[in-house]
Amino acid sequence: MKIALIAHDKKKNESIELAKAYRDVLGTHELYATGTTGTLIMGETGLPIHRMKSGPLGGDQQIGAMLACGELDLIIFLRDPLTAQPHEPDVSALLRLCDVQAIPLATNASSAKALLEAMKNGVYFS
Ligand code: PGA
Repeated sequence: MKIALIAHDKKKNESIELAKAYRDVLGTHELYATGTTGTLIMGETGLPIHRMKSGPLGGDQQIGAMLACGELDLIIFLRDPLTAQPHEPDVSALLRLCDVQAIPLATNASSAKALLEAMKNGVYFS
């Protein structure tokens, strides 16, 4: 599966902890991420990750373009709902495209864990 990982700044640590906890299952898939999230997770886990531009500089739109082309199977986007984001239009567009394409999307760590646990147990999303 092709999986995209994105985390707003206040959720970066949570995304690293999640990637560490599910390193084994994530390591069997092809990973993509926005720039900073990808760099941090790669540094902390050693997982290979295709990195896009940083989210506010267009990375969310790059992930969105992949979604529109049917090139992603699952998105884990740990959003910060309490901080205004300069690239909110890009964030909304990405979430909308997940629904357009009916792609599984986790926007917080609990739902991400549910999807990753399912994957650990052999569930395949595509
Ligand atoms: P970042 O982007 O991983 O480059 O910080 C995430 C975002 O805010 O969309």
